[in-house]
Amino acid sequence: MNSSPSLPLEFSAASREKYVRDLGHLPLDILVVGGGITGAGIVRDAALRGYRVGLIEKADFASGTSSKSSKLIHGGLRYLKNLEFSLVHEALGERKTLLEIAPHLVHPLKCLLPVYESDTDPSWMVHLGLLMYDMLSFSKSIGSHQMIEGEAAESVAPLLRKEGLKQIAQYYDCGADDFRLVMANVQSAAQAGAVVANYVRAEDLWREKGTVVGVKATDALTGARLDIRSHTVVNAAGPWSDQLRKIWEEEEIPRLRTTKGVHLILSRDRLKILHPIVLPAVSDQRPVFAIPWRRFVVLGTTDTEYTGDLDRVCPERDDIDYLLDTFNHYFPTVRLTDSDIVSTFAGLRPLVDEGGKTESRVTREYEIFEGPEAVFSIVGGKLTTYRTMALEMVDRLRKKLESSFSVKAAEPRCRTGEQPLYGGEIEDFEQFRETWFERLRQELDLDEEVATHLAETYGNALDIVVPFLAAGPDGSEKILPDLPFLWGELDYALAREMTVGLDDFVIRRTHLFSLDREQGQSIIGEVADRMALALGWSAEEVKRQKSRYLAKIEVVQGFRGLGRINRSSAS
Ligand code: FAD
Repeated sequence: MNSSPSLPLEFSAASREKYVRDLGHLPLDILVVGGGITGAGIVRDAALRGYRVGLIEKADFASGTSSKSSKLIHGGLRYLKNLEFSLVHEALGERKTLLEIAPHLVHPLKCLLPVYESDTDPSWMVHLGLLMYDMLSFSKSIGSHQMIEGEAAESVAPLLRKEGLKQIAQYYDCGADDFRLVMANVQSAAQAGAVVANYVRAEDLWREKGTVVGVKATDALTGARLDIRSHTVVNAAGPWSDQLRKIWEEEEIPRLRTTKGVHLILSRDRLKILHPIVLPAVSDQRPVFAIPWRRFVVLGTTDTEYTGDLDRVCPERDDIDYLLDTFNHYFPTVRLTDSDIVSTFAGLRPLVDEGGKTESRVTREYEIFEGPEAVFSIVGGKLTTYRTMALEMVDRLRKKLESSFSVKAAEPRCRTGEQPLYGGEIEDFEQFRETWFERLRQELDLDEEVATHLAETYGNALDIVVPFLAAGPDGSEKILPDLPFLWGELDYALAREMTVGLDDFVIRRTHLFSLDREQGQSIIGEVADRMALALGWSAEEVKRQKSRYLAKIEVVQGFRGLGRINRSSAS
């Protein structure tokens, strides 16, 4: 594998200002609109091929669907039922590639699939499906499936309902921090020369004498208008892509079908499971997951048609009941209630509109639409297959750039599968984690939980993170006593991760928002004060940041009324 250009990358609010200036002056070959995994994958691929490429994101990177997924890098067992063999084959290949280019972010998971007498799929069919899954996998390196029963089955999942349990299928997939995967792509792209900025919103196409020459945009932080000149434009706005197409093309034909997926986060003390478990939902037999995540468990997901406000997607009472009813059925001694829910998150699947199909049968494949002129829209896909989507998109752009603009790529071949992602230059992750655990214990007196969090978050960029943890009076101190996030990570995030808003740090650069029962309300005052110092915020701006943050709590906790929100923390 080739190695990536060496770390570190300056990626601060000041870098953002420079990038925004560049976007207004430097003509581009490709402008990507949307900083989710789709846009981030495309901008990295294009930058590695030597194009002059830019990316704009209307809010923070991955603030749309790409931080609200089930965080699985998987072949998609259930797509075998829809006979989508090529999708499964491609996804299993990508699982292997991502393990290689981002070993700090992508980790093998042993998954359990219990088979009950009442299930619509009998044991033999599950066994056959998993045989096929193993065969379609390029590599057996993360393990082949096994069918277990009797005492062995009980010991692997002791809390599971025993009545009617015939067998448990054990198979392998991977998990990943979805936000971090986007961030690593964006940082790698910037290292390769891409011009990237969060909080820049694409408005209309920019036309000169009737010809599209770029995009008109607004810097959401300053309100300044920005005309970005580019030969080609890619609409990678996920669930928002039809909205943009409507403005850009006056197009009424929807290409997109959005379905909502809700997850619940619980403490693992309340549902003591060791491995991800897939179960058929009680009401409609759709597969749902319970996934251990550090000291927590994520339950999800729902899949329902969504036509509401794209910027305010809330878990509703029915979503919560759907998940609690299912897991209470399969874990009868646990008796989960609302009070066990630490947090929730909800996202929208940007699916290709196939008209008439039920939500979970709509394909997770993607489509690229061309026009008007050199403007493209890319719709659909999965987190797992983002790299191959990007590859096809950039191949299409290459043809367009050559034929219409006589622009040739310095390196026409896609190199994203060969070069490690930012932080991913690691030979053996287990050894890497051990080495860092020892070093962090000796140098900063950090425990194993914190060391694991740091190794899995930053990979070999830890060399750059550590000086931030070692600096100042409390760089290596926890922001909240029960969670592994440190104050030094805030300074690092400001300098190296384009963190320009309170929720950028508390919701996405860390998971304080999702993993704290109070959604970090006790610390947002101090985080905001420190950010104000670094970013020059006025008192008014601090207040605005806090109010915006509290509004996000209303979204995730709204299903139980708003009594838990401490309004005084906004003032
Ligand atoms: P998004 O992440 O939504 O990115 C689009 C971006 O465009 C947004 O950040 C938005 O702010 C920006 N934008 C919009 N309008 C503008 C504008 N005018 N100007 C600038 N920017 C704009 N896939 C898997 O492989 N594994 C899983 O386990 C998995 N689980 C899932 C669970 C759920 C509940 C959901 C909803 C999806 C799941 N997926 C999973 C699918 C995967 O998460 C999505 O396919 C993927 O994240 C979509 O990424 P995207 O970049 O296309 O969209």
